[in-house]
Amino acid sequence: MPRKKTTAEGQAKPLIACPVCRSKIAPDGAALFEKSAHMEYLENTNELLPKLEKKFKELSAQLGAKDKEIEVKDAELKKCTGEIDRLRLVVREANEREEKKNVGKKEARGNAGSAGASEDEW
Ligand SMILES: [Zn+2]
Repeated sequence: MPRKKTTAEGQAKPLIACPVCRSKIAPDGAALFEKSAHMEYLENTNELLPKLEKKFKELSAQLGAKDKEIEVKDAELKKCTGEIDRLRLVVREANEREEKKNVGKKEARGNAGSAGASEDEW
Protein backbone atom coordinates (compact mmCIF):
# COMPACT_ATOMS: atom_id res chain seq x y z
CA MET A 1 0.00 0.00 0.00
CA PRO A 2 1.51 3.30 -1.05
CA ARG A 3 2.00 5.94 1.51
CA LYS A 4 -0.71 8.52 1.65
CA LYS A 5 -0.69 11.93 3.08
CA THR A 6 -2.62 12.06 6.28
CA THR A 7 -6.10 13.27 5.60
CA ALA A 8 -9.31 12.85 7.42
CA GLU A 9 -10.35 9.85 5.36
CA GLY A 10 -11.26 7.56 8.20
CA GLN A 11 -8.39 5.26 7.24
CA ALA A 12 -5.83 3.87 9.67
CA LYS A 13 -4.77 6.80 11.72
CA PRO A 14 -1.09 7.69 11.59
CA LEU A 15 0.93 6.96 14.66
CA ILE A 16 2.51 9.80 16.52
CA ALA A 17 5.52 9.92 18.75
CA CYS A 18 4.74 10.20 22.44
CA PRO A 19 6.04 13.58 23.58
CA VAL A 20 7.36 12.01 26.78
CA CYS A 21 8.98 8.71 25.81
CA ARG A 22 8.97 8.99 22.00
CA SER A 23 7.23 5.64 21.56
CA LYS A 24 4.85 5.24 18.67
CA ILE A 25 1.35 5.71 19.98
CA ALA A 26 -2.12 6.25 18.63
CA PRO A 27 -2.91 9.92 18.04
CA ASP A 28 -5.32 9.91 20.97
CA GLY A 29 -2.66 8.32 23.19
CA ALA A 30 -4.91 5.32 23.87
CA ALA A 31 -2.58 2.63 22.51
CA LEU A 32 1.13 1.98 22.50
CA PHE A 33 2.34 0.47 19.26
CA GLU A 34 6.07 0.44 19.54
CA LYS A 35 8.26 1.03 22.55
CA SER A 36 11.01 3.47 21.87
CA ALA A 37 14.59 2.96 23.01
CA HIS A 38 13.99 5.96 25.20
CA MET A 39 11.04 4.26 26.89
CA GLU A 40 13.18 1.18 27.56
CA TYR A 41 15.78 3.47 29.01
CA LEU A 42 13.14 5.06 31.22
CA GLU A 43 11.97 1.63 32.35
CA ASN A 44 15.50 0.60 33.21
CA THR A 45 15.99 3.85 35.03
CA ASN A 46 12.82 3.14 36.94
CA GLU A 47 14.27 -0.12 38.21
CA LEU A 48 17.61 1.45 38.91
CA LEU A 49 16.23 4.43 40.76
CA PRO A 50 15.34 2.71 44.08
CA LYS A 51 18.80 1.12 44.15
CA LEU A 52 20.43 4.47 43.51
CA GLU A 53 18.30 6.12 46.15
CA LYS A 54 19.30 3.46 48.67
CA LYS A 55 22.96 3.92 47.79
CA PHE A 56 22.54 7.67 48.00
CA LYS A 57 21.08 7.38 51.49
CA GLU A 58 23.98 5.19 52.59
CA LEU A 59 26.51 7.61 51.22
CA SER A 60 24.68 10.57 52.72
CA ALA A 61 24.77 8.89 56.11
CA GLN A 62 28.50 8.23 55.73
CA LEU A 63 29.06 11.79 54.67
CA GLY A 64 27.08 13.05 57.64
CA ALA A 65 29.18 10.91 59.98
CA LYS A 66 32.37 12.23 58.39
CA ASP A 67 31.10 15.78 58.72
CA LYS A 68 30.52 15.17 62.42
CA GLU A 69 34.02 13.72 62.77
CA ILE A 70 35.49 16.72 61.06
CA GLU A 71 33.49 19.02 63.33
CA VAL A 72 34.83 17.24 66.40
CA LYS A 73 38.41 17.31 65.10
CA ASP A 74 37.98 20.93 64.18
CA ALA A 75 36.86 21.76 67.70
CA GLU A 76 39.82 19.81 69.11
CA LEU A 77 42.18 21.63 66.81
CA LYS A 78 40.76 24.98 67.84
CA LYS A 79 41.18 24.02 71.47
CA CYS A 80 44.79 22.97 70.88
CA THR A 81 45.50 26.12 68.92
CA GLY A 82 44.01 28.19 71.71
CA GLU A 83 46.13 26.31 74.24
CA ILE A 84 49.27 26.87 72.17
CA ASP A 85 48.47 30.57 71.85
CA ARG A 86 47.95 30.74 75.61
CA LEU A 87 51.27 28.98 76.28
CA ARG A 88 53.08 31.25 73.82
CA LEU A 89 51.74 34.24 75.69
CA VAL A 90 52.85 32.76 79.02
CA VAL A 91 56.33 32.11 77.63
CA ARG A 92 56.54 35.56 76.06
CA GLU A 93 55.54 37.21 79.31
CA ALA A 94 58.08 35.10 81.19
CA ASN A 95 60.75 36.05 78.65
CA GLU A 96 59.85 39.70 78.93
CA ARG A 97 60.09 39.52 82.71
CA GLU A 98 63.43 37.76 82.37
CA GLU A 99 64.61 40.40 79.90
CA LYS A 100 63.67 43.23 82.23
CA LYS A 101 65.56 41.52 85.02
CA ASN A 102 68.57 41.12 82.76
CA VAL A 103 68.34 44.72 81.61
CA GLY A 104 68.30 45.70 85.27
CA LYS A 105 71.37 43.56 85.85
CA LYS A 106 73.09 45.05 82.79
CA GLU A 107 72.42 48.52 84.04
CA ALA A 108 73.61 47.58 87.48
CA ARG A 109 76.76 45.68 86.58
CA GLY A 110 77.14 45.45 82.80
CA ASN A 111 76.69 42.35 80.65
CA ALA A 112 76.46 39.35 82.94
CA GLY A 113 76.87 36.91 80.01
CA SER A 114 75.22 33.49 80.45
CA ALA A 115 72.14 34.89 82.21
CA GLY A 116 70.66 35.93 78.83
CA ALA A 117 70.33 32.32 77.58
CA SER A 118 66.66 32.04 78.52
CA GLU A 119 65.72 34.36 75.69
CA ASP A 120 66.71 31.75 73.11
CA GLU A 121 64.64 28.95 74.57
CA TRP A 122 61.52 30.02 72.64
ZN1 LIG B 1 5.20 7.77 26.20
